[in-house]
Amino acid sequence: MLRFQEVVTHGSSFTSISTCSKALIAGRYTVQQKLGRGSFGTVYLVSDKKAKDEEQLKVLKETSVGDLKPNETVEANLEAQLLSRLDHPAIVKFYTSFVEGESFCIITEYCEGRDLDFKIQEYKEAGKIFPESQIIEWFIQLLLGVNYMHERRILHRDLKAKNIFLKNNLLKIGDFGVSRLLMGSCDLATTFTGTPFYMSPEALQHQGYDTKSDIWSLGCILYEMCCLDHAFTGHNFLSVVLKIVEDDAPSLPDSYPSKLNTVLHSMLSKDPAMRPSAAEILRSSYIDGQLQNMKCKFANMIKEDQVLNSQKEAAHIISAVQKRVHLQTLRALSEVQKMTPRERMRLRKLNIADEKAKKLKQLAEEKYQENLKRMQELRSRNFHQVNIDVLHESGQQIAEHLITSQPVTSLDYLSIGCNKQTDSETPGRFCMSDPVEHEIPEDPLIAEEYYNDGFDSCSETSEEEEEEEEEELTKVEEIEVSQTVCRTNRQDSDIEAMVRCMENILNTGSLGSGTVTSMTPPGPGGSRALNSTMAATKLRHMRESAIQKLGAEIFEKVYKFLREAKQRNTSEDEIKGYLEKMVCRASDCFEVDQLLYFEDQLSLISANAGKPKSVMH
Ligand code: ADP
Ligand code: MG
Repeated sequence: MLRFQEVVTHGSSFTSISTCSKALIAGRYTVQQKLGRGSFGTVYLVSDKKAKDEEQLKVLKETSVGDLKPNETVEANLEAQLLSRLDHPAIVKFYTSFVEGESFCIITEYCEGRDLDFKIQEYKEAGKIFPESQIIEWFIQLLLGVNYMHERRILHRDLKAKNIFLKNNLLKIGDFGVSRLLMGSCDLATTFTGTPFYMSPEALQHQGYDTKSDIWSLGCILYEMCCLDHAFTGHNFLSVVLKIVEDDAPSLPDSYPSKLNTVLHSMLSKDPAMRPSAAEILRSSYIDGQLQNMKCKFANMIKEDQVLNSQKEAAHIISAVQKRVHLQTLRALSEVQKMTPRERMRLRKLNIADEKAKKLKQLAEEKYQENLKRMQELRSRNFHQVNIDVLHESGQQIAEHLITSQPVTSLDYLSIGCNKQTDSETPGRFCMSDPVEHEIPEDPLIAEEYYNDGFDSCSETSEEEEEEEEEELTKVEEIEVSQTVCRTNRQDSDIEAMVRCMENILNTGSLGSGTVTSMTPPGPGGSRALNSTMAATKLRHMRESAIQKLGAEIFEKVYKFLREAKQRNTSEDEIKGYLEKMVCRASDCFEVDQLLYFEDQLSLISANAGKPKSVMH
């Protein structure tokens, strides 16, 4: 069994990972920061040193389990192996889980966009609503994810906005299958796992939990995305439960398509058998049409991204080439800078000679044209045709010789020297500005000054600076490009996977019947009962959270009052009146109410099992 190399004790209850611990967990994870606290334990952002660069950030969920019994560990491991094999763009990837001492740890994909609950609160506070097209796209993504898991006989049991994450604006469902891993698979386990606002009537009444119960929760999420509020609300736990069990399903505002409202109502049917499966919703004509649109949009996004990427790369290459050319020029100039005065002089001569060569060519051309002209004159004076030809040929030959057979190289000029040229037929104007007529100063410093020219403007320092700048720039650009590429790759891979899922659904129609009732095949130990250790952990967290919200003193008073009220069957109004005297809003006591409900449930099952068990403290 893997062991944490460093654990820190929080109070006397259990040992946990420390946020400041730089030690390696399970030989590969280091804690970066605490992300939050969930109903089962603490959640950390960790870095996985064994993963590829772009996949290093992961999430570690730690929950205190006390000493797990060996069979529980084996079952949890089997469950974890199953979960780690699942792969869908709308499901938060489950990597692995392990136990260390009193901590059970789960490693999952990290979603940088936070959870949907946070996003909804953000929009609500800003007075904004999600565009309809966005809601439909997200809803379809959730349906695809749920369908994938249900096809594999895996239930979520705790679908809620807080368990849905945003990554590159795509939704990913977290904790799919995790409740069974943590809590076991009996009805009571579901009640303990689930969040009342999203719980189906049958789950609340212990009438069994199946895929259709997840569909109910998904309906609640659809409503929440449209209205930024829970589908069933109430100021205390029991009033919410009553609404879920008895009230009609709420409707979407008229601004939403009636077909979407029809889908919502079907998902919130009280009778699970009347609810459609995820597969059936995806197949319905309204959602199927939206799915087609979404597939096209996503496929275009991939194409645009590819074009944009290649454009970016092309722009990068062009700018790199331009910089290289610039750098080469600078380098060439810097070579000149490094030359001795004599070498510079030679170079200067070369350049002048090149100029002369050009002018010679020009002259030859002129001479040739003159010859032609002269021949035409001769012809017009009735010279013999042959002679004309001969003359013409010889004239051309001379001209060609002048033009082509004397390639004027710099070396030639260096070897022959300037005087030779001035002595030749070439007019003296070609040598007019030739500095060779002056003596080259032998002292390099004086020579330097003497031949001070345009080259001097490019000093070595400026060239070096340019080069450094260039290298820095190239480095930064490379990093930028690689980040863009890797960001796009990751994003693309999710979008591409999503397009593949949509194509599968649209083309093959390979949707399961959706009436799955038998769940994950039971492990070797058979169907798992409630993991009472986990249930106790959850209750303890609930109690701690309520104390934190209300303060210890008020918590105790509210807790005592609600317990007695339950026994005395006190009316709702009386309860509300009392609570409002104690706290600002009666709904602040929701958690205490839920805690009492869970405690009753747990003591009931403990009594049934013939071993009374206190889960308090
Ligand atoms: P709950 O029990 O309420 O579902 P969790 O234990 O799932 O809570 O999560 C606790 C906190 O950690 C929340 O703030 C949640 O947003 C964050 N969190 C959980 N999983 C992830 C993840 N995969 N990526 C990013 N943040 C996460
Ligand atoms: Mg969660």
